[in-house]
Amino acid sequence: MSTDSSAKASAKPAADAATSLKDRGNLFEIATKQIDKAIKLVNLDPDIAQILAQPKNELIVNFPVRMDNGKISMFKGYRVQHNNILGPYKGGMRYHHEANLDEMKALASWMTFKSALHEIPFGGGKGGVKVDPRQHSKSELERITRRFTAALGSNIGPEFDIPAPDVNTNAQTMVWMMDTYMNIVGAGDRNSVRGVVTGKSVTAGGSHGRAEATGAGVVHCITEWAKDKGFNLDGCHVIIQGFGNVGSYTARLLSQKGAVIIGVGDVGGYIANPEGINPHKLGEHVSKNGTVAGYKGAAKIGRDEFFGLEADIFVPAALELEVGVKEANALKVKMMVEGANGPTYPEAEDILLAKGVDVIPDILCNSGGVIVSYYEWLQNKRSEQWETADVLGRLEKRMKQTYQQVRQYATAKKCDWRTASYAIGLERLQACYKERGIFP
Ligand code: NAD
Repeated sequence: MSTDSSAKASAKPAADAATSLKDRGNLFEIATKQIDKAIKLVNLDPDIAQILAQPKNELIVNFPVRMDNGKISMFKGYRVQHNNILGPYKGGMRYHHEANLDEMKALASWMTFKSALHEIPFGGGKGGVKVDPRQHSKSELERITRRFTAALGSNIGPEFDIPAPDVNTNAQTMVWMMDTYMNIVGAGDRNSVRGVVTGKSVTAGGSHGRAEATGAGVVHCITEWAKDKGFNLDGCHVIIQGFGNVGSYTARLLSQKGAVIIGVGDVGGYIANPEGINPHKLGEHVSKNGTVAGYKGAAKIGRDEFFGLEADIFVPAALELEVGVKEANALKVKMMVEGANGPTYPEAEDILLAKGVDVIPDILCNSGGVIVSYYEWLQNKRSEQWETADVLGRLEKRMKQTYQQVRQYATAKKCDWRTASYAIGLERLQACYKERGIFP
């Protein structure tokens, strides 16, 4: 175990969100600020607040990997295990050149509250590797993933800590992790540990519906919101930042409801077309080119222009802290639904709420991934394979139930939806701690 000082830039107020991650402020401090509001609202027992204020375990591993040219490179990997009172630690593994400990701590704590809010019997974890995957071949990425998994060793496991895909990782990454872990535990236990990761390919024991699950959950929240507001999604205008797993599936599923995607942006640039962007064709372009930039069916625009587009719905689905004060002032939308984890600075959220923009928070709306991960884990435990309609039907029911709970809670307590979502999660965690107490 060691500590990391690479992200100590600390709480700069609402930085220019286009800057590098380390200049955007300390994500864990921002997460703590959000959660503190809910702690006050539910009058949480200070002992429990203390327990939840820091992760249980913060693991950093430095490991060597042989590159294609025969030379060795060192990599830094993280796994933060925030809390496991409700079940095994659970959360994604991200590969990013600016990955850092405070980011992982924030993301891990959000997973604890997300699972508690949706009544999924999991805790919260997050991890990844400080690496720019665009600089590596597929075989190098495989060796990085396998060596990282070996370095984590028994710090992960199907009953202890269960990784999943996140930014720049996918089903293939999870299959490499699973296969490595299976080989570490030995022949006799190999098949019983298939559930060590979720988000695997269906061939390797993943669940039908997992790939689109997070996008589907985002769209269920948008659908419920539209129903509540009497808003017609058919023909409405949507802008989406990030066109990876979450952004692209959200775009596809929203377009099935008649929504028109008029602006999209990613790490390579921003594009717009007032007549609409076909998400399937854009998906093909991104598969070939790795970015939305250069797509023929839309015009290139700047990032500032993107945030100023006239639209009904904004879906941030890229990285954290992309929506600062400047972006909040620029946005001309009716609602923002956070596909990404932690995309919004607290000050920016205040501006949006004051402007009358409805904000559907990440832990409520981007939880489709962890919900279907739970179904995948159950299928692995039972050696079952559920049909797509079954998986997606269960997901829809769960998302809509939680959405209504948060709506009722926020109305009753007269608070914003983020605070309501945390508060529900905190009450469930508190109830469990009160019954179980602290060992010994
Ligand atoms: P991904 O790697 O598939 O896609 C990430 C997207 O963000 C890409 O389009 C990338 O180009 C874009 N991006 C990266 N840096 C950017 C920048 N500086 N400016 C603009 N765009 C940028 O990742 P994903 O799995 O879709 O995850 C996206 C977000 O959703 C993350 O915050 C992640 O934690 C969150 N999330 C993912 C899941 C899941 O199941 N994959 C579940 C819940 C939440």
